[in-house]
Order: sequence, then C-alpha cells, then structure tokens
Amino acid sequence: MPEHPRPATRPDPRPAGGAAPLPPLPLPLAREAVDRAGLEREDPGLLDRLWQEAGTGVLHLRGGRAPVRDGALVTVPPAGPVPPGAVFLGRRERADGEASAAVVLVAHEDGAGAGSTPDTAPEGLPTDVAWVGLRDVAAGLSDADAGLFTAAVSVTHWHASHGFCPRCGGPTAVESAGWVRRCTACSVQHFPRTDPAVIMAVTDDDDRLLLGSNAAWPAGRHSCLAGFVEPGESLEHAVVREVGEEAGIVVVDPVYRGSQPWPFPRSLMVGFRARAPRGQTERADGVEIRSLRWFSRTELVAAVRDGEVTLPGAVSIARALIEDWYGGTLPDETTLIS
Ligand SMILES: [Zn+2]
Repeated sequence: MPEHPRPATRPDPRPAGGAAPLPPLPLPLAREAVDRAGLEREDPGLLDRLWQEAGTGVLHLRGGRAPVRDGALVTVPPAGPVPPGAVFLGRRERADGEASAAVVLVAHEDGAGAGSTPDTAPEGLPTDVAWVGLRDVAAGLSDADAGLFTAAVSVTHWHASHGFCPRCGGPTAVESAGWVRRCTACSVQHFPRTDPAVIMAVTDDDDRLLLGSNAAWPAGRHSCLAGFVEPGESLEHAVVREVGEEAGIVVVDPVYRGSQPWPFPRSLMVGFRARAPRGQTERADGVEIRSLRWFSRTELVAAVRDGEVTLPGAVSIARALIEDWYGGTLPDETTLIS
C-alpha cells in the first residue's frame, strides 16, 4: 500500500494575516457555573439522600418552561417522595457561601403548547412565578441559571424520546440519577445524545458576510448558513460541504469560534468562520435556502433599519457570529428565530 503523503508543515492555526487570536464569542447557552458532579451520579441512593439534604433545590419544568421570578429561576425544597424520573443536575454555590447546594430536576409533560401558566403549581412553588421558555429568558439569566435551564431542557428532551431501546425495542429504565437509561430486556446502557451541527460566518475577500434566507422562514429573515454534521465527517469538512450544498461556493480556512447547546431538541451548534476566495458566484439551492446575499457592514445595518432584513435572536450562536464579524452590537429591530 502506498504511504499517505504527510504535509511538510502543519497548517497555521492562527487567523489569516497573523492577527491576534479572536476573543471568545459571548454565547448565552454556553454558560455553566454549576458543578455537574458526575461522579456522584453513580451512588444508587443519591436522589433519596439529596431529597433529605439541607439546601437541595428542586427545579420544576413544565412543557419545557421553567418558573422564573425577578430574572432568576425559582427552585423549591423537596416535598413528598422522590418523583420517578428526577434528574440530579449538579451543585451550585449557595448565597451564604456554605457548602454547595444540589439541584434536582423534576420534569412534567403537561403544559406543552399551553399558556405560560399551568393550571396547578407544584407544591411549594410561589404563585407569582412566570413559566418561561429557555429561548425567551436565557440571555437575562445568571450563568448558573442559564446552565441549569439549558441542561434541564436538554436532558428532558432525551428522556422523552428514549423510552425504548434503539437496539432491541425493549423498554428502558432510568439509572445514574437521570443520566443513563438501561434497557430492561437486553441490559444495554444508553446515554444522552447530542447532534453536532456547524454554523458558519462566511466572508469574501472584501470582508462582506454571506447570509441566507431559509425557505421555511418569513420573508426577510436572514442568518448564517448551517447544517448537521454527517456520520463519519469532521466538523471542518461539514463546514465546507454545507456551504457548497447551500450556496454553491467553496470555502477555505474554517476557524473554530465557539459552541453552544441548542436543545431544540438536541443540537450542539459549533460556530466557525470560513473564507470564500474571489471568483465564485453564490447560488441558493432553491430548496432549503430561498435566497443568499452578501452584506458589507453598512449594508447590513441599513437593511435591518429599513426592516428589509431580520436577524436571528440574541440567544442564538448565529447572532453572536454575525456580531463577531460586525465588530459590535447590531441594531435591535429583531425577532427570535425558532
Ligand atoms: Zn435492548
């Protein structure tokens, strides 16, 4: 067999032009100030013990919404027996500086598609909380609350879709304080799943930004190109392939910019910059992407101000990538992308 040729030098990981490393993207769903305390999960009596432990807080989730008051999640002390399906989310610092407090998630299926206030409140919960969705509130939460809420929504989606074994079809049962499901028929363990997707800020040689309008979106809504990583594919290859499929151009030099979970239901968005060398003409695929457009900074601000273009919401990595390229906060005539 012929040997694979090895490059004489490794690619330079720094941005083109020898510029200083780019600052980290501010990502509202990538804030984890809570110790997940993964080793504790293996204690089979953990949840019963935490239920009796001073300071434990229970976070109720109903239809993906959490109770919020004054810009903070509201947790309540444990009451009654440990509910089946409770999940140990981790330990957070306590306001009094004493030993960290455990947070346990109790997810309720009811409330999906209903108004923001369920008919009945879980025991001990104040009546003046608002039941709010993650996308609507995450940007204003503390790092600890944003991380807890993101983890809670993510793991709840996983439980909801993995009641049966993908291998043999048998029913699965929860283990490890909510972080494993084991098949009751074939004993295989199943772990929470995350689907990686790449999202790209593509620029040309004039430093214009390429945005696309998805065929499923209202007219005017624009965002970065994005797509799921395929089995057996690297992130960098997915960047090149997705831009090729959606825009008909070849990009080079993908540079990692940051990642954040997007638990709707289980994506991990991995953000890149990539460069489109001169001499190529973009073309929308006409199926997934309705139209494509290059923007200078001046053109983008004007299009947003005129209401001609709507940008993704503040919680999304797309917004962070666009503002990263822009070099600051963009005007706020925006709506949330769902
Ligand atoms: Zn099985």
